[in-house]
Amino acid sequence: MRLYKTDAIVLSDSELGDQDKIITLLSDQYGKIRAVAKGARRLKSRFAPAVQMPSYVNAVLYRSQRIEVDTFNECKINSPFLGIRNDLVRLSYGYYLVELIMKFIRGAETPPFLFDLVLKMLFLLETTPEKSLPVLMRSFELKMLTILGYRPYLAGCVDCHRRIEKSRQVYFSGYEGGILCSSCSRKRVGKLVSYEAIRWMKFFANTPLKKLANMRAGEKIEKELKVIPESYIPHRLGEDVLSYDFIETVQDLEKDGDLEKIID
Ligand SMILES: [Zn+2]
Repeated sequence: MRLYKTDAIVLSDSELGDQDKIITLLSDQYGKIRAVAKGARRLKSRFAPAVQMPSYVNAVLYRSQRIEVDTFNECKINSPFLGIRNDLVRLSYGYYLVELIMKFIRGAETPPFLFDLVLKMLFLLETTPEKSLPVLMRSFELKMLTILGYRPYLAGCVDCHRRIEKSRQVYFSGYEGGILCSSCSRKRVGKLVSYEAIRWMKFFANTPLKKLANMRAGEKIEKELKVIPESYIPHRLGEDVLSYDFIETVQDLEKDGDLEKIID
């Protein structure tokens, strides 16, 4: 049995028997880890406050040769991200981010820069004005896709490689993995987007997250950029990201003032 220490982000927890929990973590070096937090379901447990999504923790874990699930020995909170946990809109983004990582990261290694990106995103998710969260999330998605080798092709038509002229129509295809010119889009499925939306996509992919913390791209562009979570990411994953709908649901409820009504 080997003891090791790691910084990690709590991605999810599930109950194990009456007293324990199984926690999934994103470690700064060891990829995704599953570990048992003994007694974490008890009120006075020393682990209970730490092992909650999306806490940033420093954990000491046992790794057994015999079983695939590790065991917590110690777990200290670096940041509990209460600002995310206590706000339904921010929490909906948190769930989405965590599901992206759960689904994209499969192995026992964390791709370089990914842990820092997720951590920076969580700190910004806690403090960024709510109106800038869609922009911030699009930028996070594009950066995450870049790190994982799935960046959409935006330099020209993904099929014929011709540059897209400003005056021409542009299509974006999640299936094809980038933009299509109007003649190639006739042969394949693509969603019509504005030239401006593609420029914003490039800008979000290349601009540091913290510089976007007060930014908006405008309602029209932000709507067009939803092709990334709604089409591009599901095609790369081969499945839907279920919690994306939760962001939309919470936003709709908040916009209509229904959130207050339903809890009244
Ligand atoms: Zn083309």
